[in-house]
Amino acid sequence: MTTQPAPLAVQQRASLREHNSFGLPAVARTLVRIASDADVRRVVDHPDFGRAPKLVLGGGSNLVLTRDVDAVVLKMEVPGIRLLRETDDAWIVEAGAGETWHTLVQWTIDHGFPGLENLALIPGSVGAAPVQNIGAYGVELKDRFESLDAVDLVTGRSVTLEPWICAFGYRDSVFKHSLAGKSVITRVRFRLPKPWQPVLGYLDLERKIAETGITQPDARTVFDWICAIRRSKLPDPAVIGNAGSFFKNPVVTEEQCRDIIGRDPEIVHYPMPDGSVKLAAGWLIDACGWKGKTVGRAGVYEKQALVLVNRGGATGAEVVTLARAIQESVYGRFGIRLEPEPVIV
Ligand SMILES: Cc1cc2nc3c(=O)[nH]c(=O)nc-3n(C[C@H](O)[C@H](O)[C@H](O)COP(=O)(O)OP(=O)(O)OC[C@H]3O[C@@H](n4cnc5c(N)ncnc54)[C@H](O)[C@@H]3O)c2cc1C
Repeated sequence: MTTQPAPLAVQQRASLREHNSFGLPAVARTLVRIASDADVRRVVDHPDFGRAPKLVLGGGSNLVLTRDVDAVVLKMEVPGIRLLRETDDAWIVEAGAGETWHTLVQWTIDHGFPGLENLALIPGSVGAAPVQNIGAYGVELKDRFESLDAVDLVTGRSVTLEPWICAFGYRDSVFKHSLAGKSVITRVRFRLPKPWQPVLGYLDLERKIAETGITQPDARTVFDWICAIRRSKLPDPAVIGNAGSFFKNPVVTEEQCRDIIGRDPEIVHYPMPDGSVKLAAGWLIDACGWKGKTVGRAGVYEKQALVLVNRGGATGAEVVTLARAIQESVYGRFGIRLEPEPVIV
């Protein structure tokens, strides 16, 4: 006896307010819940949805919705986390795109497979993590990446992509360029190397070592420290709408940096291995006097100038207006163009 697949879970005129961490108002013409590769293929083959434009949605924590979405929104809900295999030098863990990122990190720590602890508490889904090569506290997704499965939104074909095809960079990957809007990530595999080595070369973590006297923390301790640091610094989107860091840290040449230091000796900067210099975007914004300011119903977070927040009832257009004003004043004072980190729709 053959069993029929369950019908596609389709919702017309779906509110996206609950599906974006900024809490911005927007309505999707059609929202389809995706629980498997087969669901993506059924959308591709669907007489109404197949040729329509698509927007892939994870947790909506890196999105600024400026209008209603006249596209088929694919809400990623592919489940599952498992240890795929263990080798002499790594644990290979696989997770469905719809799993919450932090749930995955917690699961790996609970099961004794360390390596993702510095990325604890980053909001959003597993499937979106490769899109901008998420990173925090000295670790990026690419440092723990094995491969991913994706489905082509035109042909419905499933493919496995290796790291070199993903072209990971600072908050960047092929999914923001040639594959943007063209393929859906359904599963991601991680290589968690053995023996585990903590990554502690970050000022906040060095402070924790000094405070606690624990010089050789285990992975759970690092995980707890990261959660505590993030809770003290970043607004909880469940309380204040936001999308985390709103701008990327700009990277300049050594010469440009020397020039800026000549004018602003205090500027926070980090030399990079390739000789370039990363500037702290939050410092640049703060230096222009934006911290705590409000424009319309959008504002700049009091504790961290890099985070824009919804003060209550803001629209995406108000957030974008504030972001442009910040870009202009940073450019006016430092000659540096800040680039937004979230995807603006
Ligand atoms: C408080 C806060 C703190 C944050 N801190 C960090 C941080 O420390 N480091 C960091 O890197 N980021 C951080 N972010 C940003 C955000 O959490 C990450 O970018 C996260 O990976 C977004 O996941 P999401 O599921 O919410 O993606 P969404 O916002 O739903 O989508 C983001 C983009 O990815 C695409 N996409 C989503 N899922 C898929 C999929 N399965 N296949 C293909 N494309 C897909 C979407 O179309 C969109 O273009 C923070 C955000 C917040 C709100």
